Amino acid sequence: MVRPKTEEEIELLRINGELVSRTLAEVGKAVAPGVTTKELDRVAETFIRDHGAVPNFLGFDGFPSSICASVNDVVVHGFPSDYVLKEGDIVSIDLGTLYKGYNGDSAYTFPVGEVDADTRQLLDVTKESLFRGIAEAVAGHRVGDIGHAVQSYAESFGFGVVRELEGHGIGRKMHEEPGVPNYGKPGRGPKLVDGMTICIEPMINAGTRGVYLAKNGWAVHTADHRKSAHFELTVVVRHGHAEQLSTFDYIGKD
Ligand code: MG
Ligand code: MG
Repeated sequence: MVRPKTEEEIELLRINGELVSRTLAEVGKAVAPGVTTKELDRVAETFIRDHGAVPNFLGFDGFPSSICASVNDVVVHGFPSDYVLKEGDIVSIDLGTLYKGYNGDSAYTFPVGEVDADTRQLLDVTKESLFRGIAEAVAGHRVGDIGHAVQSYAESFGFGVVRELEGHGIGRKMHEEPGVPNYGKPGRGPKLVDGMTICIEPMINAGTRGVYLAKNGWAVHTADHRKSAHFELTVVVRHGHAEQLSTFDYIGKD
């Protein structure tokens, strides 16, 4: 049984969620053709540390950077590198913070310059699938209700829903119980109770759902090498409707 968070803990998670949201927006401002993903990592790490927090990805299971920067066919866990972003790419930025003993964790997939219509649809559908999942993160529902909402929406567009990775609870540890898959059956899985804090993070492929792990043991690629998108928010389960602890509202604004 997952212990719901106290209101004090939720407040600390909200502070982390706020910083993560602002960091994603800061990185988003820097995304452009000609920029390396290493430069985006530097933007994020500097912003997080300037606000008195620590990038919780850095050193996590040996992860070498403060963000995951996953370009095009990389689903998640890409290492920031000297790769130079080019017009038409997409880059998923996943990042987190540790502040006062609690964690933040969110992700957004940015278009680099102009992207083609199919890519735009992949981004829009993946983001909307996340919000459909959040709408199910209500006390009395089950984890399978979230997964079903994400899966049924994404698959209705013919996209592939990655099953090898999933969302998670969050608190003192970045990854806590329960696992939150992006597929499932309504009414199945652990029950959602008021005060549970979870990260919902659909990873949706333009083509088939198959993925493979790169030789570095981290980067997850689509098997067909088509693009993949990833959006993540932290929410607290409530009666009636979930409350977001992180947001995309700062992205694209100054
Ligand atoms: Mg996560
Ligand atoms: Mg994440």
